[in-house]
Formats: sequence, structure tokens, C-alpha cells
Amino acid sequence: MSRARCYACGVFAGLMLACALGSVRWVSDRTAAASAVPVPTSAAAAEQAPPDDGKLRIIAFGAHPDDCELEAGGTACLWASQGHHVKFVSTTNGDIGHWQMAGGALAQRRTKEVEAAAKILGNAVQVLDIHDGELEPTLENRRTFTRLIRRWKADIVIAPRPNDYHPDHRYTGVLVQDSAYMVTVPFFCPDTPALKKNPVFLYFPDGFQKPNPFRPDIVVSIDAVIERKAEALAQIVSQFIEGGCGGGPERMPRDEARMKARQEQLKQAWLNPRHATLADRYRDKLIELYGEEAGKHVRHAEAFEVCEYGRRPSPEELRKLFPIVPQKR
Ligand SMILES: [Zn+2]
Repeated sequence: MSRARCYACGVFAGLMLACALGSVRWVSDRTAAASAVPVPTSAAAAEQAPPDDGKLRIIAFGAHPDDCELEAGGTACLWASQGHHVKFVSTTNGDIGHWQMAGGALAQRRTKEVEAAAKILGNAVQVLDIHDGELEPTLENRRTFTRLIRRWKADIVIAPRPNDYHPDHRYTGVLVQDSAYMVTVPFFCPDTPALKKNPVFLYFPDGFQKPNPFRPDIVVSIDAVIERKAEALAQIVSQFIEGGCGGGPERMPRDEARMKARQEQLKQAWLNPRHATLADRYRDKLIELYGEEAGKHVRHAEAFEVCEYGRRPSPEELRKLFPIVPQKR
């Protein structure tokens, strides 16, 4: 059991803790609809490719039901608001991610939390039937990841770097890297048509320096949607209110009124620019992308690095994959 040290968790060390104890398997596969963006709502729809409508297809893999929301919730919301198709996959079911409860009941609870967040952000969501803390880079899992990327017909795949601190994060990164070439090989998983064009693979940010630090290729201002991201994260009560695996009785709101107050407190904490360290850390990149004036004033940002595997986009192509970053003024 360990205190979460995802980048965002580090920023909100007092508020955010993740990952705990449990055993029963559970699975969910649902697609949520944002108020502004029509997306499929049936369980089966999340497994299908989005329509061929010329919009981008993005699939992000996080190890636990909160990782994608933390690292890419704002960017997903911006993509979805332009009609692009975003899917978040949690590669484990989160069934040990609480100090007090565990197993199937926790997996179900955490799945409902990310489904509620998805309704706000506008993404599809899927939680895989793999125990929290037990993800391994097996051939079976490589096939699962490959099929998921192919079925989504992804243009962009996002995952943690494979040198992350948590084994589930690390092996999520490894499995996505292991799939990065195989998604194009027709006789690997021949039951699922291979992709003709290799997607662009991106990394979420982290603070680890060895063997090499995270270096962003694209930094996205999420100021326009930070309130929606905060609202989405406030749905993930088991982690951000109750403290996940590192919580305790003192973190449990005693009644509904106190719960609402804690959720409001959490949202305000997210909106506080004091916590918006990514924008400051990558200010130069923001100015390069948004221009001096706009770049200087960005408060909340999310950042991504291009992986060396998969398609290597030119700077122009990268901009096309991020139409949510306006042209420099
Ligand atoms: Zn995690």
C-alpha cells in the first residue's frame, strides 16, 4: 500500500491519496454522455469504434479509476467539446484503493465514480477486470491492450511512462509500449482488424528524473474547462474525499451536509492557481504554443510528451491532433 505520487497527487498531497487493499474481481464497461457532446450510452457502445465522422479518436490508459481523470480530464473535456472521441481505460478495477473497504464493492463504487466524472467531461470509460496492484505485462494483457486500441481506431494513445513509481502505472506504460507496434501487425490478434496507420503515442507527465525526466511536447491550457474538471474529480469521493488507501476515519464526512462541503472545498482547491504548477513549470512551452500574451496568462494546464514508439508526428501534425490549442496570436 502506498501513498499516491501521481504528478497531480503530489500537487495535492494533503487531499489526494490513492490505491489500497482487496481481492474480488469486477468489471464495468460503460460510455457516458457529456451534456454538450452526444456520445453513445450503452455498455456495448464503449467497445465499438466511434463513428467515422472525421473527428479524432483518443484512447488513454490509466492504471486506476482516477488516473486518466487527473492527468487528462481537462484535455479530454476540450477534445469532447469539439466532438472528438475520447475514451479513458482504467487497466485495473481499483479494488484495493481504500483504507476501509475493498474487493468487488469498492470496484463497483470506483467504476460508478469515473462514470459520473465521464458524464461531466464527455468521455467514454472502461474499467478492466484486473485486480488493483496486480497488473502484469503478460501476453494476455498485451493482446487486451492491442484490441482496445484497434477497436477504438485510435489516432492518439496516452499512457504513463514506464518508469513510474507504482507497479500498475509502470506496467500500464509497458503494456501500451508493447502494443505500440503490434496494433499494426495483422496476424497478432487476427480477430481484431489491425490499424493501417500507427497512432501517435503520448505520455502523461510525472516528476521522476531517472533515467530521464518528462519533457513535454505539447502543453494544453485547460482554463476554459477547469471548473468542469474540478467538478468531475469531486465525483471521485473514495479517493479525493475519503483519502483512498491512505485515508482514515478522520477523512470520512459524518453526514451528507459535510460531504457536500468537502466536495466544494476540493473543487475550490483545484481552482486555486497556487496548485496549478504544471502551467508554471512549462510556461516556456505555453508561450511557444499560445504566444507571449496568452501563454503568460494560462493558469491551469495539462502536458504530454511524444513517445518514441508509434508514429512520430511533425510539429504541424501534432498541432492538428490538438485543435484545442488555438493558433498562436
Ligand atoms: Zn494510479
